[in-house]
Amino acid sequence: MKLQSLTIGLLCSGLGLIAVSCNKDDAASPTTPQAGATAANFTVGEGDLQLETGVLADGRIKCTYEAFTQAIFADAATTGVAPSPCAPTAFNTALAPYVTELNRATLAERQNYSLLSQLSQLYTYVDPATPYFGADGSLTDFAAKTKRSLESFWNMPNEVTLHGQHVNSLQNREAIAAVYRNFSTASEQAAYANADFIIANYVLPSTVFKTSPLLALDGFATTGLTTRTGKVVGDLIVIGDGLVQVMNEAGVNKQVTFAGILGHEWAHQIQFNNYEAWYGPRVNTAEQTRMTELEADLLSSYYLTHKRGATYNWKSSAEFFKLFFNIGDCSFISEGHHGTPNQRMAASRLGWIIAQETMPMGHILTAQETHDLFIASLQSIIDNKIDSSAAMANLKTPQLKAVFGKIVEREREVKSILTGQLNSTAIENL
Ligand SMILES: [Zn+2]
Repeated sequence: MKLQSLTIGLLCSGLGLIAVSCNKDDAASPTTPQAGATAANFTVGEGDLQLETGVLADGRIKCTYEAFTQAIFADAATTGVAPSPCAPTAFNTALAPYVTELNRATLAERQNYSLLSQLSQLYTYVDPATPYFGADGSLTDFAAKTKRSLESFWNMPNEVTLHGQHVNSLQNREAIAAVYRNFSTASEQAAYANADFIIANYVLPSTVFKTSPLLALDGFATTGLTTRTGKVVGDLIVIGDGLVQVMNEAGVNKQVTFAGILGHEWAHQIQFNNYEAWYGPRVNTAEQTRMTELEADLLSSYYLTHKRGATYNWKSSAEFFKLFFNIGDCSFISEGHHGTPNQRMAASRLGWIIAQETMPMGHILTAQETHDLFIASLQSIIDNKIDSSAAMANLKTPQLKAVFGKIVEREREVKSILTGQLNSTAIENL
């Protein structure tokens, strides 16, 4: 078995973050884990350790920053959505020591990385424990408070479940066995045998698998899933400890990071509730993904900066967004393309403008109203497809027309973000 490449993906639903991709030789690999076998004998997730993840494909919003490596290796594509320049970012810099650590790990560890990252992610779907947040639990209270705030803000009580993702789940026998029960054909006994084997042979001998934030780097929203054992997962949001940790090491406050990511994923839950009406059939094109991501950015910014939402000012929010939008999404032909960082920052600024304009009324727009403003702004300002008077005419109520009028007054400011005319410091100081 040859290790061919280390590809890095990230966040928001992709299986196999930082997936170690292995090319299998024709030489047969043992398929049954047994005491004394070396880890290198097993290809990733093969044989009795194989996991079935197909069940997850339909229920997730395509929201993965899988192009992370392209950001590092700057591999500009020439088709799909028109590319714009991408460069290594503060997030990539903060992540680099952990990627280096993994690259320097043993061959066996690198070969097992994909399986362990998959186990870590899959456990977040079926984790029955009272959730905690942050590896040390320091974000647990804040997570509960922010979730209640979002429930109230968007009028979605008791709908969404919020789970953490923790590196130390990989040392938890019950956790790994639960993944095999729900995502493979393993019997109860075999699920525990796999768990014991993996912990003893892969996790405990490895420093990386006990500590690396790369194994808790997910952030995603999902809906309507049922595992093969019939367990209903429902509307779920997952936020990994490692993601918050790395964002923090790159310079953004942990609470702002957590609220920002949760606000963005919550927006995807709103979209799940309205998907057909807002977007028609799900087609997973770069263009549809770009629209849903830009809208999630606008909705999260609206929540983050609204006085009855998270109450952060624009500067704090913009510092978060700058990093969040630069988690390496440079894959312009990818299905999961999220929009360029400039487009995403412009969408966030639109969310802030809407919050400013609806705040004096002490008012929170409904999701539908906010969506209508997003579409009007997307078509006229971000994509320049129709003029603002045509976009205005499509809005149904005097209130929405009034708010959109305020957006149009700031069109030049939004365009200066879109075109890259303003640098990030100038944007934060707007
Ligand atoms: Zn997203």
